[in-house]
Amino acid sequence: HQPKEFLLAVEALTVSFDGFKAVNDLSFYVEENEIRVIIGPNGAGKTTVLDLICGKTKATSGSIQFRGKELTKLRENEIVKAGVGRKFQTPSVFEDLSVFENLEISFPRGRTVFGSLAFKRDAVVKDRVEEVAEMIFLKDRLKTSAAELSHGQKQWLEIGMLLIQNPDLLMLDEPVAGMSVSERAKTAELLNRIIKDRSVLVIEHDMKFVEDIAHKVTVLHQGQILSEGTMERVKNDPKVVEVYLGH
Ligand code: ADP
Repeated sequence: HQPKEFLLAVEALTVSFDGFKAVNDLSFYVEENEIRVIIGPNGAGKTTVLDLICGKTKATSGSIQFRGKELTKLRENEIVKAGVGRKFQTPSVFEDLSVFENLEISFPRGRTVFGSLAFKRDAVVKDRVEEVAEMIFLKDRLKTSAAELSHGQKQWLEIGMLLIQNPDLLMLDEPVAGMSVSERAKTAELLNRIIKDRSVLVIEHDMKFVEDIAHKVTVLHQGQILSEGTMERVKNDPKVVEVYLGH
């Protein structure tokens, strides 16, 4: 890739709900191997931006270019296939399945690679499950049922269920909400590891965590960009202090 090639280019994106513009002429660009964090007050449009990218909400106008594909024209499942993974705030793992099984059922289907050689597929899936389990700190918990995991471990498992599909862009909504201090530190480590192969777009309110992970921060306010740049820069931006960080 060219060094300045963007993985994701959001341009003039707008969505209106009954005339109210939740996202209003928004443009931002995410590079390869970048951790981008979106911050901003409640109602700023953060969740709506992720909903637009993953196709859950349809844009009124504007474009979302991802690896040369126009995502606004695709359905949700096509966007997943194009390489976008989205984790919602509440964990949605299968409680009565083991860690191994949760990862296994998330492995992408597709006959072309394996043909009829089911045993070969099983071996590939097992290797990949173990690889992902290691990344999410659950290698020694493969047989544990998801119900027995801590809240933080369930969050990691859900990230693992997305990682096993090898997305080029992983979108996370408040990934460390409800996590312990040590789980937060490990989540930062996890994100820093996985961006070798992808970019991550995160909504986050925990400013300490944002400082730890963000390469660049986009501050949203009333569906528009209030400020953008390094955390150091945006946290000293008087506009940001006034509408968001000041109180
Ligand atoms: P944030 O995630 O920054 O808190 P949201 O993206 O959830 O903000 O919401 C932005 C604004 O858009 C809010 O005022 C919200 O009420 C409104 N909104 C979001 N989704 C819808 C919808 N489906 N219909 C009507 N209004 C919506």
